[in-house]
Amino acid sequence: MGRVRTRFAPSPTGFLHLGGARTAAFNWALARKEKGDFILRIEDTDRERSKKQFEEAILEDLRWLGIEWDEGPDRGGPYGPYRQSERGEIYQSFIAQLRTKNLIYPCYCTVEELEKERKEALKRGKAPRYSGRCFFLSSEERKQREEKGIKPSWRFRIPEGKEIVLEDLVRGKVVFHTSFLGDFVVLKSDGIPTYNFACVVDDALMNISHVLRGEEHLSNTPYQVLLYQALELTPPLFAHVPIILDEERAKLSKRRGEVNLRFFKEEGFLPEAILNYLLTLGHSFPEGREIIEGEELYTLFSLERISKGGAIFDPARLNWWNKTYIHRMDIKKLEEKLIQWGGEKVKEFKEELGEERFYLLLDLVREESITLKEMVEKLRDYVSVKEEKVEDETQLKILKFLLSSLERFNASWEEKEIKENLRLWQKESGFPPSLFYPVLRWSLIGREEGPELDRLLVALGKEKVLEKIKARMGNNGN
Ligand code: GLU
Repeated sequence: MGRVRTRFAPSPTGFLHLGGARTAAFNWALARKEKGDFILRIEDTDRERSKKQFEEAILEDLRWLGIEWDEGPDRGGPYGPYRQSERGEIYQSFIAQLRTKNLIYPCYCTVEELEKERKEALKRGKAPRYSGRCFFLSSEERKQREEKGIKPSWRFRIPEGKEIVLEDLVRGKVVFHTSFLGDFVVLKSDGIPTYNFACVVDDALMNISHVLRGEEHLSNTPYQVLLYQALELTPPLFAHVPIILDEERAKLSKRRGEVNLRFFKEEGFLPEAILNYLLTLGHSFPEGREIIEGEELYTLFSLERISKGGAIFDPARLNWWNKTYIHRMDIKKLEEKLIQWGGEKVKEFKEELGEERFYLLLDLVREESITLKEMVEKLRDYVSVKEEKVEDETQLKILKFLLSSLERFNASWEEKEIKENLRLWQKESGFPPSLFYPVLRWSLIGREEGPELDRLLVALGKEKVLEKIKARMGNNGN
């Protein structure tokens, strides 16, 4: 096998979504595993819908995920330019080849005419396909249209009675018959090539060895294969990966905001967890392993373990991945992630609590959080002093009792001591544990359920604990 070169070829018409990110991850993993090259190519042939800000966002989100490319629009490379809008001349020379070989013809049909034809086909229960009408125009008829100033698009003439056999690395042998294919546009009337054409020229010129892409592109592949043949270019190996479905087995809609990577970033998901999770959507790691980090993300990646189906995006699974990463992460690294996500706030908490307590609290909070966002919210609740007072008489009595016990407590402020004393105080107070402990927890974090009290008290520190209880009692505890 020659050098492995894979590519991710997004169209900058929107933010990077899970499907795109998964395609990028698979191609990246294969290239890294085989010590080859991973190329980023921007497919901006749809001039109207392509936006610079989307291109920038895609690059930013890929980097955030930890996917780095060897060649691309921002860093160049030996096969550039890497933006299709800048490759116009290259495409023209290949169009010229097709013209010389008489494999394409001008089509003067208007959008309206084509639409009418399409609707009629559908009405008759047939798959819409271009009739090939313009292929049969005489040179006189063509001239007439040119004289009217009609700019043609150029269509590739589908050869009759041919079988196109694709050896797909995931799906095995796939056979297409040309009788089901319609003459397709390679160059639009504005001189811009179509996706199928530009993609073939670029993949060939960029020496792409493997194309891993979503199954939705399988229907484009026979057209692309015909172009490779017509241009006498060597096609890459194709692997069409299963489309990502939601829990109801429906296609993940791009319109749902939560399929954009940005959504997960903003919600405080870790890129490491997402990248790991993406590599399990339609692919599995050996021995059913799930948490895979660092180099193993690609050394353990294998084309053989890409499945034909079963790429289900389950938010609960992603939550599990993220939670696991948060739980396992080195505490200093987690702090870094939190600061990146939550900014100055997190630094303020640290200052207020002091280094030691801050880490204790971080440890406590991470155990009950799924995302960084949740961690920051919890930290805020834990550090801030709530003014919402207790109205209930019994609760007030418990707090009063606790306050005086804590004020008198002069043993060292450690888990063991606190644990023993809490038990003692509960007994002394005469209130049942089911009442006593939840009141204390509520006064400290605004919830009756939560972390173990001894650990919570140690992490918050005596001063903060007293301050919080007093605030809950109103009148500074008097
Ligand atoms: N620009 C195409 C897309 O974003 C790329 C398809 C391909 O990988 O060939 O879907």
